[in-house]
Amino acid sequence: MTVSSAVQNADERYALARAAYREIPLYTPDKTPVAIDLRDNTNLWGVPPAAARVIADAARAVARYPTLYSMDLKRRIAEYVGHGVTPESIVVGCGSDEVLGSAIRGLAEPGDHFVYSDPTFPMAVLYGRMAGLTPVPIPFAADWDIDPDAISAARGRVIYVCSPNNPTGVPASRASIEAVVTNSDGLVIIDEAYAEFAGVTSVDLALENDRVLVTRTFSKAFGLAGLRVGYGIGAPALIREIEKARGPYTVNALAERAAVAALTEDLEWVRERVAETVANRVRLREKIAELGFAPLPSESNFILLVVRDAVGLTGRLFDLGVGIRPYPKLPRIGDAVRMTVGPWSMMQTLLSGLRTAHNEWL
Ligand code: PMP
Repeated sequence: MTVSSAVQNADERYALARAAYREIPLYTPDKTPVAIDLRDNTNLWGVPPAAARVIADAARAVARYPTLYSMDLKRRIAEYVGHGVTPESIVVGCGSDEVLGSAIRGLAEPGDHFVYSDPTFPMAVLYGRMAGLTPVPIPFAADWDIDPDAISAARGRVIYVCSPNNPTGVPASRASIEAVVTNSDGLVIIDEAYAEFAGVTSVDLALENDRVLVTRTFSKAFGLAGLRVGYGIGAPALIREIEKARGPYTVNALAERAAVAALTEDLEWVRERVAETVANRVRLREKIAELGFAPLPSESNFILLVVRDAVGLTGRLFDLGVGIRPYPKLPRIGDAVRMTVGPWSMMQTLLSGLRTAHNEWL
């Protein structure tokens, strides 16, 4: 089998395409069906029960528009996040993807620098390019922390810090994040899509400084990736600009109800799944290391392994019924593969696949 790269190159050109879009590829990671799919860092235990019930009951709601800016959901998110966050400090969107895209589009001009640590979540970089910004990749420090001096020197209008970072799984240190915020004058976006699994947050910084935006999602710990709900936390004046760029009605009626139900009734379910994910991550990392692979020290719901041949290993595991994500030739890492941490029975199938592949290559 062949494994398509995470971002495919378009070979057909369209005459009316915007200049900044011409070289932007369509994001098309491999989605070929596979028995155990560990490719997208979602909640492999499924949908939380109250959210599932509300979705089944909500058919009548979809004949009308949803609420304009999801105030009910913002109130629940404010309670969940704590730290004194108010609904006025929250923007919600069609996934945190939309919040990221709207923030970049709404706050930066074409030609401005989009500064990020490389490698990171590729869509964030693509949203920068779509808005006409110039991407400025900065290497990670030796311990997989971000390099605050190099980031501040790059003069970003937007500085993107993914913590824990996708695909490395390692969070940025508090000291480095604070240094970036202090020593730069652009918008600092801290992407906390995986924060629940790390147990640390920069939400307090977003409340103290109007150049800091923290983004979060319901797609990972909350098991609602298919509904597409994410949010950003920042100063009310910043949030208003992002909401203008976002526009009305982008969180649909089912998604808003299910996310409210999850925050109201499913928090225990979510916390139990997060605890199980963290326990399985620790156990899986030990077992993988025993096999002779080199896993990075993840604080997320996925693990990145440095390997000799990412595409070859992914293809072999695919044939054994397990889908993982190949990363050929990552900067500073070389070939690596990423796998979602889920229920232990799935992890056992993954481990036996890795063992088979490893023995074949010895
Ligand atoms: N940020 C990071 C770091 C991610 O890995 C992802 C999804 N893979 C997202 C944001 C987007 O998540 P969503 O749009 O589903 O909220």
